[in-house]
Amino acid sequence: MEVLEQYRAYRPRPISPKERGKVTIVFGGLTWKHERLIQGALENVGYKAEPLPQIERQDLDIGKELIDTGACCPTTFTAGNLARFLKEKSSKEGKDKLVNGYAFVTVGACGPCRFGQYHESYERVLENLDLRNFRLFLLDLMQMEQNSGGIEITMPLTFGLVYSMFLADILTDMEYATRPYEVVPGETDRVLKESIELLYEKLKKRPIRGKKWGSLIWHVITPYFVNALKEVKKLWEEVEVDRLRVKPKVKITGEFWLQTHEGDGNYNIKRWLEQEGAEVIPPPVAVWMDYLMHMALWRLEQNKDFVDKYHLKKFAIKTIIKLYHYTYNKLRKALSNIPNPLPPQEKLRELARPYFHYLLAGGEGFMLIGKALYAHLNKHAHMICELSPYGCMPNTMSIGAMQAVLGKHPDLLYAPIEVKGDAEVHALSRCQMILTEAKKRAQREFEEVLEKTGLTEEEIRNYEEDHPELKKATYKVPHYGYAGTSANYVVHVAKLMGRI
Ligand code: SF4
Repeated sequence: MEVLEQYRAYRPRPISPKERGKVTIVFGGLTWKHERLIQGALENVGYKAEPLPQIERQDLDIGKELIDTGACCPTTFTAGNLARFLKEKSSKEGKDKLVNGYAFVTVGACGPCRFGQYHESYERVLENLDLRNFRLFLLDLMQMEQNSGGIEITMPLTFGLVYSMFLADILTDMEYATRPYEVVPGETDRVLKESIELLYEKLKKRPIRGKKWGSLIWHVITPYFVNALKEVKKLWEEVEVDRLRVKPKVKITGEFWLQTHEGDGNYNIKRWLEQEGAEVIPPPVAVWMDYLMHMALWRLEQNKDFVDKYHLKKFAIKTIIKLYHYTYNKLRKALSNIPNPLPPQEKLRELARPYFHYLLAGGEGFMLIGKALYAHLNKHAHMICELSPYGCMPNTMSIGAMQAVLGKHPDLLYAPIEVKGDAEVHALSRCQMILTEAKKRAQREFEEVLEKTGLTEEEIRNYEEDHPELKKATYKVPHYGYAGTSANYVVHVAKLMGRI
């Protein structure tokens, strides 16, 4: 007779204080740069830590076998990635070592989307691999201090994680602003790797100054991370660039995981765009946290008549947002402000307002529209490449609203790419069509600027010979209202030469 087993909610065994330092905390979902720095922050407070392996195409198939078939593509990829890790560790080190020596930590948030239920999919993975004793913990993205029985989130760890995110974002901006123009192929990747290792060591050796207020004050005023970035800057100074290469600038937007990811999960689209001759503007993870904090503020304002200590709470959130931006900008400045500033959330909300209600949560909410319009109207990019996951309800809503935006702004070059994980040729060829038009715009803009300034490429190259600092990756070229780097560079050199 078949014996039915009752459903029991998954409850992981807690990690006891004695186990800290023995159990390896496993995590993933971001780029290798973010993950390496997070590893440093975790090791700094006494944990052993290991990122999941980089996402591969096979993770999609593994995920499809193990979790519900209607899951969105990021959930399927990440669940498959966890499953691959568990299978490999189990066969190399044995099931007992895996169950007692490792624990997976992931984040969650409330919302009408699967992000709030990722852990459910991970639990299906454990069930299907017969690993229900394996420990899996969920952290709340918006809590500065918490103890889920997994890792104890304290102020020093929270600040370590925030700095890891900031530093990786800033280095990612440096990377994408440099690689398309590097004179010696491979230099950017080499220097990037060295920089991440340097910052990993800094995070790992970060001094701990108190547990609460002491920690907060130290992290706000310390020059520790700025000094670390000054060392990083010296490495980037050695990279020579040629900013006269005419390239269309492509801003990446879309669902959080897909736009952040660098690998098979999104057809490695950022690298592909670079190979096709574009300069990519990557999306920083820090924008997402900024968005969540603003959403908390606006919800508070919406409910002000029912909120206890309304003014005090509003003041607290606004102060945190100010400190957040202050710190991010301080770090950008250490790299000559080449990394982009965070887009102003108020402005994004205003731009998106006629098309999308700002309190509609899930996915990227109003940001998908706001960011596209902000980049287009301020001439930060020639084209927007928007990555939509297959099976994502919130993103489908935003894409629908984008049709109205395009009706009003027909000159906005917009490539919405649906990512299923296994339809690469179709997605990339769609992107290529829009990219062809973006290339033409970049070329036209460059020629117009040459004509306006009366300069020739040869004159600029001769001027560069006498001013070699212009050819350094760390040299900041201001934005003169053109989308393309080369066009802004020509205006800048013309100004330095006194030609305009
Ligand atoms: S936003 Fe969409 S793709 Fe991302 S987790 Fe939610 S449902 Fe999945």
